[in-house]
Amino acid sequence: MAYSYDTENIFAKILRGEIPNNTVMESEHALAFRDINPQAPDHVLVIPKGPYVCYDHFALEASEAEIVDFTRMIGAVARELGVQPGERGAGYRLLSNAGEDGVQEVPHLHVHLVAGRRLGRMLSPAS
Ligand code: AMP
Repeated sequence: MAYSYDTENIFAKILRGEIPNNTVMESEHALAFRDINPQAPDHVLVIPKGPYVCYDHFALEASEAEIVDFTRMIGAVARELGVQPGERGAGYRLLSNAGEDGVQEVPHLHVHLVAGRRLGRMLSPAS
């Protein structure tokens, strides 16, 4: 199935500079910014700049340069926040929702990096 990308989604508007964001980091192919409704003391969204709906779409169609840049930015954000496990930080969780069952609200690929408190079990019962 070919994905169709909604150019009016809120992250597309952020990328076009039409609405503000709290940027943590930016590179040629990716942007990291703070979630507007944080679920933990640190909650950052990392997105590719290209028009990809979700992770499998990105994995299929993104260039190697985009994939490398996006992947490295996720690690760089963890280090920037000082949450990488070990001597400095206490760890973090990565999460990327896709589609209906994944309860994806914004149809532009994003990875949530959540940290700063003990996060508990990975999944809770559906509500
Ligand atoms: P998801 O359910 O994985 O699609 O999550 C979308 C996330 O985007 C939610 O955690 C929202 O709080 C977040 N969000 C929505 N609008 C904005 C915005 N303008 N700036 C930052 N984060 C946003």
